Amino acid sequence: MAASRGGYWRVDGMNDIGWKIDHGVFSIGQVSGDVLTFDLEGRIIFASISGRSYRRTIMNRFIEIITANGIRTTRELDYGEAQEIADVIYSRLGTLISAVALSGTDGPGLEWMGKRDWKWLVSDAGRLTEIYGGGIPVIPPDQYFALYVRYTRGCPWNKCSFCRLYTGINYAVSSVSSVLSQVDELRAALGRGIDSRRTVFLGDANAINTRTSEVVKVITALRETLGLPVYAFSDAFTTPLSKSESDYSQMHSAGLHRVYIGVESGSRKVLEILNKPMDLDTALAEMRQMKAAGISLGVIIMSGAGGRALAEDHIRDTSHFVANLPLGRGDMVYISPMVEYRESPYYDIVTKEKLGILSAAEKMAQAQELKDRILGLWKERNTLPPNFPVAPYLLAESIY
Ligand code: SF4
Repeated sequence: MAASRGGYWRVDGMNDIGWKIDHGVFSIGQVSGDVLTFDLEGRIIFASISGRSYRRTIMNRFIEIITANGIRTTRELDYGEAQEIADVIYSRLGTLISAVALSGTDGPGLEWMGKRDWKWLVSDAGRLTEIYGGGIPVIPPDQYFALYVRYTRGCPWNKCSFCRLYTGINYAVSSVSSVLSQVDELRAALGRGIDSRRTVFLGDANAINTRTSEVVKVITALRETLGLPVYAFSDAFTTPLSKSESDYSQMHSAGLHRVYIGVESGSRKVLEILNKPMDLDTALAEMRQMKAAGISLGVIIMSGAGGRALAEDHIRDTSHFVANLPLGRGDMVYISPMVEYRESPYYDIVTKEKLGILSAAEKMAQAQELKDRILGLWKERNTLPPNFPVAPYLLAESIY
């Protein structure tokens, strides 16, 4: 293959077309226009085309990303729209690759990729769904390029009033050997596409709260097989009851890099409505132990939790809680706008208690206020400026 592999752009000056292959991702586009990216099997990853941006997840869901007046909005495309945009992207890819070939420039050598199509994408995602035994409900926003490995299935608690992620899924833990078979199957299915995966995400919810010796074996095996850092979710109410700093140290030594914890709120009143049985002191101790063990934190809080009635409690207590955490380089704070599913117990509570559901704009304003207060409190309590990002976590974008 003649394409640039060093991560720098090669340019066909005659056609104003550039391309590169970097970290297993092939990008091609017109220097002054559209950019398309694919993995090395031709799966669409991202496309900026005719002024619109699209991201495709590995399970073949397409998200349209629109940024207007500094505000970013996202929307998942329906089946027909996704098929249409996939056809446009492959057709555009074919045109760009042919133009380079015709100009006599040393092209990327990926002419076959323009012949991929929607049918292939559907069957590819179907194979992955079979391997996982179903769809993957959620990943953290920075894990878009992860290889998801399903070690546990569902959530052992599964009773938070607002959460629909694992509804109807019976919690189960896989053996080390079946995790490794799953990895073999994923490697075979992804082919050269595996090169675009930069981390391993150990799913589902709370995968680290299995027997320490087992989870350490799983992380070690993944690290040895794939050579990638491992990330996972944890809760802050069952995990701290069974894990110590020594357990976290073993997981970190095996390759666990960051753990994402859905704290949601620092307000006891709000946590009660969320049916999250989290003792805030225990949660704080858990996160301190993880940090002491060398594991980075991804702390997730929500904007809009508790509705309008509890907004001030939620903002005040959550910002104080987060500003007290031992955060630093490598940690992240995510603010996720609450999604009130009509069929959820949370929706029943907020409507019955007349708490008032915040509008999308109010949730965005609350997210900004949470961020400002967290960073303000952090600066009051620490001599060094905060060196961790406080970023949005949009569920609509965090699909695999
Ligand atoms: S612990 Fe997390 S995954 Fe489980 S029910 Fe609560 S929010 Fe959902």
